[in-house]
Formats: sequence, C-alpha cells, structure tokens
Amino acid sequence: MHLLSIYALSFASAVIVLFIWTIWRLIDRSTRTAIVLFIRKRLLYALVMRRLRTSSDISVLAGLNLLLFGAANVTACTLWVPNPAEIAKRCGTLFIINVIPLYLGGRTNYIADRIFRLQLNEYALLHRWIGRICVVQGLVHGFLNAATSRASIVETILLSLVVALGCLSFLHLRRYMYEVFLKTHLLFALALAVVLWFHVRRSSTRASVCLGVASAAWLLQHVIWLIRLIHQTPGSRSTPIDLGPGQYIYITLPRLSLHTLGLIQSHPYVIAWIDGQDIIILVERNKGFSNAIFALPTVTTHSAMVDGPYGRVQSLGQYDKVLLLASGIGVAAHLLHIRHLLEAHKDKSVRVRRVALTWFLETPEQERWADKFLERLRDIDSSNTYGRQIFVLKKCIPGAVEYQSQDLRYSITPTILDLSAEIDGEAGVEGGNTAVLVCGNPHFENAVRKGVRSSKRDIHLFMTGFRPEESEAGKAARGRYC
Ligand SMILES: Cc1cc2nc3c(=O)[nH]c(=O)nc-3n(C[C@H](O)[C@H](O)[C@H](O)COP(=O)(O)OP(=O)(O)OC[C@H]3O[C@@H](n4cnc5c(N)ncnc54)[C@H](O)[C@@H]3O)c2cc1C
Repeated sequence: MHLLSIYALSFASAVIVLFIWTIWRLIDRSTRTAIVLFIRKRLLYALVMRRLRTSSDISVLAGLNLLLFGAANVTACTLWVPNPAEIAKRCGTLFIINVIPLYLGGRTNYIADRIFRLQLNEYALLHRWIGRICVVQGLVHGFLNAATSRASIVETILLSLVVALGCLSFLHLRRYMYEVFLKTHLLFALALAVVLWFHVRRSSTRASVCLGVASAAWLLQHVIWLIRLIHQTPGSRSTPIDLGPGQYIYITLPRLSLHTLGLIQSHPYVIAWIDGQDIIILVERNKGFSNAIFALPTVTTHSAMVDGPYGRVQSLGQYDKVLLLASGIGVAAHLLHIRHLLEAHKDKSVRVRRVALTWFLETPEQERWADKFLERLRDIDSSNTYGRQIFVLKKCIPGAVEYQSQDLRYSITPTILDLSAEIDGEAGVEGGNTAVLVCGNPHFENAVRKGVRSSKRDIHLFMTGFRPEESEAGKAARGRYC
C-alpha cells in the first residue's frame, strides 16, 4: 500500500475514534446506561454459536470481530489485484504475518493469560480462526505458485504440512482423539516453522522478521512455561503458589501409566478448594487421563507437575447480590468463590450482602462431590456473628425428597428448575446490583443466558474459565430445567 494511503487511513481512524468519544461524553447518563445494557444483552450475552465438544462459544460480538477479521484478510488479498501472481504474493505475506500469534500456542499460556488477559475460551477461538485463515492463505499461495512454476521440495513439504494441519484440526477428528490431535498438531506446527525458515531464506526481509518474531514468541513462551513449571511443582517450590477463585492449573502425572503417556499429558482443572498448602480439585470421570486417575488404587501418592495458575480472578465483591449457578461438575468453579466472598464479608471488605448457590445435579450421585465443602461454607457463614448470615444454598436433585431445613437458607428440591425465575427472583430479593456467575454444560449455560437477557433488571453475567462439556448424564437431565 502506498505510504500516503497508510497515513490517510491511520489519520481517519484516529479522527473517527475521537469523534465517537466526544459524542459519548455528550450523551446523558441514562441513555449511556441503556446503550451499555443493549450492548451487554444483545452482543455479549447472546451467542451466535453454542460450543460443541472441543470448540468454543461464539458471542455476537466475537462473531462480528471474526467477520471483520475475515473481511479484512479477504480485502487485503483481493483488492485491486492485477493478476493471480499478486494474489499469491499477498496471501503469502498475510500468512506470515498472521502466523505470528499462532506460535504462542493453542493452549493458554503466560503471555495470553497475564499480559493480554484473554480468557481461555476467547484465546482458543482466536487461535482456531487465525489458524483457519492461515491455512486458506497458505493453500492459495502454494497452489497459485505451483500453477505457474514447478514447486520445489521445500514448497511441496510446506503445502503438505499446511494441508495436514488443516485436516487434523477438523472438529470431528479433534473430538475423536483429543490427545492425539494435540500432539500431532504441535509436531506439524514445529515442522512448519522449520521448513518455513528454508522457504523465506531467499525472499523478503519482512518475511524473515515475521518468522523470527513467531519463533521468538514460541521460545519465550516455552522458557516462561518451563521456569514456572520447575518453580511450582509440589516439592520443588519454596513459596506457596498464589491462587485465587476461578483460576485453574494444568496437571501432569508423569507416572500415571505408560500407555496413557502421563509425562506428556497435561490437563486443566479448576481449583475447587485450598487447604493450607494443599490444592484440591474435583475430577469428573472421562475416557482418558481422568479415567486413568480413577483406576489408581485409592490410597496412593503420585508426584504431580503443576503449571499455572491461569485465569482471571473475577472480583464479585462489588456486587450486592451474587448468584452462582452450576450444573454437575460446574460446582467446582464456585466453591472457592463463595469461600472468598464469605470471608471478605466477615472482614467487611466487600459490598456483598447475599451469596446464593443453585446447584443443578444431573444425577443424585453428584451430591457427594462437593458436600464436604458446602458444609464448610455453611460453617464459615454461621460463624459470622457480627453481621447477618448471607449464604443461601439450593440443590436440585433428581428423585430427591423435597427438603427445607429449619434454616430457610438451605433447601433440596426435585422440581423442574426455572432458571429465568431463579435469576429474576434473586435479583429482586432486595435492592442493589446483581452478578450471576455460571458454570455448567452448554445447554444449561444457554438457559442462564436466556434468563439474564429476558430479565428487565440490569444483571451482570460472568462465565468461568472452565466451560464444562455436556456429558450423557447432562443430556438426560435437560428436561429438568428451562
Ligand atoms: C479451564 C478448565 C478447567 C477445568 N476444570 C475441571 C474440573 O475442575 N473438573 C473436571 O472434572 N474437569 C475439568 N475440566 C475438564 C477437564 O480438563 C477434562 O475433562 C479432562 O482434561 C479430560 O481428560 P480425559 O483425558 O479424561 O478426557 P477425554 O475423555 O479424553 O476427553 C474429554 C474431553 O476433555 C477435553 N480434554 C481432554 N484433554 C484435554 C486437555 N489436555 N486440555 C483441555 N481439554 C482436554 C476435550 O474437550 C475432550 O473432548 C476443565 C477444563 C478446563 C478447560
């Protein structure tokens, strides 16, 4: 692009931003609140696509961003192109620019999490879509060049690697063998970086710089990861890890068993509870790593490698009422939140006046997962002699006998859970602002989103970093909430 055009575009963008900011300041407060409410309910809380297994939710805002990103790439590749050779050249240039963030990795990491403060769901979505666009640009670049001149060995290998990365990332393949996908994806991505170095050797300096930045990002990310891993692995650490509610860690059990390749698997688990130096996680049984954990003899000690913590600590203390909604294993993400809120309420360091947990159990057996911790939360709340007690607990258990304890704050119910009524009821129970934090399977989460959006009140909705997938039990329980 001509230098003058770049200057004109940058100048125009700055003027537009300034203009919008001036208009915003001129609008009166109630209109501003209405606009913010509209943006939250229609763009942030509404989804264009609900997550499937191993994919991410796409909110309307995220969808628009992706659309914009795609349109910018298509425009940059095709606007005023004189011939196919120019398209190939542009696709190659855009490929090498877009590839830079991909080498930070698909899994969350220190740079994405702490510096860019991206939630895992947002980061994974970004990684996937940038990757898809790179694959298309790489293919167009490769095939158009191959059509005009004979492809060298390096170019053929590059093209095959791009095809392999694209094919292996298909949702159905990812789902089928997630762990195999992760490892092959990493291997092909590394091979691609090496072969790209040979490819760009004789082309522009810009390509070498971009590839240099991508390689440096990969290296830096891994050096940070290794340092943190060594520092935080239980037994090797001198200071306790600083952990907060809503954060998660990656766990590796090197001696799990040979055929499950414990050493090269790391799995994320949200921190459910902390007892002194002990970090407690709740594990739901799946088919791979978690299944191998359940197969271990009950009284065994295994050394573990811990990577993290990752994820933002959501500060819910500035709300008057906090409603936590969970289905199944989602309760793991809420326990520490409640404990922190209750303790902070005791210290009078937060605004919260009411903390309510509604736990939807997909099967009656799930009740045992968190009972010990819920009991401790009730103890923390009842020892609050200075202020009033604020913790309200409701469990929705299939086939349970309706139960209301003498203390009206605790109940068990087998009835259908109307999430919209639950949310509206909690928000209206007394004055002040309300936050809803949800951790449940996609179907449950969607019902909560609907409830918040349909409420006339201004309710702030938050998601946890852990977005559970829908298990068979979760699917069977769909009819018990709406
Ligand atoms: C931030 C976060 C926090 C989580 N917290 C908890 C928790 O507290 N309790 C709990 O039971 N589960 C939690 N999970 C889910 C848990 O990580 C997976 O269920 C677990 O990795 C499954 O391992 P598996 O080999 O037994 O599963 P599989 O049966 O092989 O796969 C089941 C699903 O688990 C996911 N998965 C598998 N391997 C990985 C991996 N290495 N990284 C990310 N996802 C993977 C995939 O989506 C896959 O579809 C959390 C997930 C995330 C992302």
